[in-house]
Amino acid sequence: RPRALSGIQPTSGSFHLGNYLGAIRQYVALQETHDAFYMVVDLHAITMPQDPADLRANTRLSAAQLLAAGLDPERCTLFIQSHVPEHAQLGWVMNCITGFGEASRMTQFKDKSAKQGAGNATVGLFTYPILQVADILLYQANAVPVGEDQRQHIELTRDLAERFNQRFGKTFTLPAAHIVKEVAKIYDLQDPAIKMSKSSSSPKGLINLLDEPKATEKKIKSAVTDTEAEIRFDAEKKPGVSNLLTIYSTLTGESVPALEAAYEGKGYGALKTDLAAVMVDFVTPFRLRTQAYLDDPETLDSILAKGAEKARAVASETLAQTYDRLGFLPAK
Ligand code: ATP
Ligand code: MG
Repeated sequence: RPRALSGIQPTSGSFHLGNYLGAIRQYVALQETHDAFYMVVDLHAITMPQDPADLRANTRLSAAQLLAAGLDPERCTLFIQSHVPEHAQLGWVMNCITGFGEASRMTQFKDKSAKQGAGNATVGLFTYPILQVADILLYQANAVPVGEDQRQHIELTRDLAERFNQRFGKTFTLPAAHIVKEVAKIYDLQDPAIKMSKSSSSPKGLINLLDEPKATEKKIKSAVTDTEAEIRFDAEKKPGVSNLLTIYSTLTGESVPALEAAYEGKGYGALKTDLAAVMVDFVTPFRLRTQAYLDDPETLDSILAKGAEKARAVASETLAQTYDRLGFLPAK
């Protein structure tokens, strides 16, 4: 079976709809076809300031949500990044074959550091794409399910894998981004020009999966649309309505053309009312399942312990081979 690998940050309590549609749904699907490794990336989370107690709680909450979304520990490997020290170790090696200019071109760094104010961003934030390279290469991943914003980092991963292989002999598999075009970028409900994001959406534009269903309903109903009245998919001219159609279509499995036909002659109010009901039907059981995992910490811990053990078996082998290729003297 081909390998899949992806990670998600425990940077806020709840995952949002963009995380779910753009990434987590694909994690669930790839369990069936791939030898899949998924992790909560706490090492990445500390590239921005985190309160320790919150980070600990959000890491558990993130794992619980991934299970609630459908990850099955019998069919995939779910773990916490810091439980597998090889990530930081291979990350260092990758730092040492990355050009400073090359790292400086990463647009995620530019966006995130701009938000923190000039000079305030950490070196960790600057090098986090390189740690992500290590995350992927450790598992010899073929497919990396992510949203559109991560495409550049997967390109960097391929470049560094190729560079290492050329210098030191074939060591790493070159991965490909697994991006589902329709849901690769879910937009902020209040500002459909920007992506829905944990760190930059306004509260009203961000659908958190663990929000009270009432709040979710309200956010959908107050989503920004346009001054026409026609329900039609047109990402350029009608970004707000198109975003709602994408969400609706993905959650229900109805095609966008079928939805356009069904809503012909109806107003935006009808679309929003129905989508709000679809969302509530989705988040209500999701919240309950998440809570059930949180209420049973022993089960959660044991899933994560087994996951870390399985992940380490693969990661340590890749790291040992990498160290050998580099010429590190083996410890006796
Ligand atoms: P932050 O703003 O702190 O970076 P985030 O909302 O981008 O948080 P991440 O944990 O960085 O969340 O991303 C997890 C996964 O979700 C990644 O694969 C990312 O590409 C995907 N993703 C994030 N936002 C969206 C979105 N709006 N649409 C589709 N996919 C998304
Ligand atoms: Mg992100």
